[in-house]
Amino acid sequence: MKSWISRPVPQLPGSMPALRLFDTAKGAVVTLGATGEQSMYVCGITPYDATHMGHAASYVAFDLLNRAWRDGRQQVSYVQNVTDVDDPLLERATATGVDWRDLAASQIELFQTDMEALNVLAPDQYVGAVEAIPLIVPAIELLLQRGLAYRVAGGPGEPDGDVYYDVEAAGKHSAETTDAWTLGAISGLSDAEMLELFAERGGDPGRAGKRQALDPLLWRVAREGEPSWPGGELGAGRPGWHIECTVIAQKYLPAPFTVQGGGSDLVFPHHEMGAGHAYSLSGVPLAQHFAHAGMVGLDGEKMSKSKGNLVLVSRLRAAGEEPAAIRLAIVAHHYRSDWSWTDEGFAAAKDRLRTWRAALDAAPEGSAAGVVARMREELSNDLNAPGAVAAVDEWAATALADGHSGSAADAALVSDAVNALLGVEL
Ligand code: ZN
Repeated sequence: MKSWISRPVPQLPGSMPALRLFDTAKGAVVTLGATGEQSMYVCGITPYDATHMGHAASYVAFDLLNRAWRDGRQQVSYVQNVTDVDDPLLERATATGVDWRDLAASQIELFQTDMEALNVLAPDQYVGAVEAIPLIVPAIELLLQRGLAYRVAGGPGEPDGDVYYDVEAAGKHSAETTDAWTLGAISGLSDAEMLELFAERGGDPGRAGKRQALDPLLWRVAREGEPSWPGGELGAGRPGWHIECTVIAQKYLPAPFTVQGGGSDLVFPHHEMGAGHAYSLSGVPLAQHFAHAGMVGLDGEKMSKSKGNLVLVSRLRAAGEEPAAIRLAIVAHHYRSDWSWTDEGFAAAKDRLRTWRAALDAAPEGSAAGVVARMREELSNDLNAPGAVAAVDEWAATALADGHSGSAADAALVSDAVNALLGVEL
């Protein structure tokens, strides 16, 4: 599928020190090796309510990582999927009387336009679930052959043949082959916690015929009125979500790739199961590191469609708000923190943008190198964007207070650094 268009990233003199990043699976900050080549997979949207502030914050978070790597002279391979067929999308299409394909296409377009506006660098591969089905089917067939997946018998109104991943068998199989994945390896959650989240986040713990409550769906066989695709030995149907990401990542990235990213609501079951699928298919881990962005609420409440309190990037843009200010409001928060979008926070970001722009006209001679070094130091420390923002704030305050005549070279370097490292165009 076509991706969006990245805007150019200014090249800065010098480079970023070694990056440290919090790894969810290890529960600690790790130093990422500067091997010259980095690879990242960030889970994409299911296109039915794009792009709310939670999405935006998550993609901006991993864009900071992408930019930090590039500033450290690393080549980055970046892959993102889009779950262009799944239950929530089909349910929304039915509820609104729109063809699911039209809904997906319009939301994907909106998402990409928002990403461009927010100056998020585009993935090298942007892959839809539907177009990946020919890759996913053989992967599920292989899991069945290995005894790590099984078919479930139907019931009243349900056909035979949905395929599930056997988490217990997979854990044992993985332990035999290599450094093990067992359920909980990524999330570190207890069984009770996993069960609760599994039910909350699209799992079906009570499905009759499953071996374990936490076994996730791999293949849903065709139902009347639902879209389906040829599935080889599986029969016609459509794929589950975790296997979709696993197969796309394995196709387009090295194994293991450097960082698997997403919002913190993807830790379990999505990234947990994806890590299991990858071991079961290839015998090597999916990713070296797992990183997660915090959740964004509105005025202290969880943001959700059902509450009708989604803050949409497209709506802000339509109201004439500048995308650079939206991005600056996002990066004022550490990517791992949970935070709330508020009018006050957004107003502060707009003020800050004005202040920074005014300060460029008064940039003190020789002041830029220091602020660039501080921004790099902060960002190399688990992408501490608020620290980098504070560094620019201090520089701007000094510039404006001293009433310098302004050094064009320093102004250009600060402007380039704010763009290259924070993705904010001054
Ligand atoms: Zn994913």
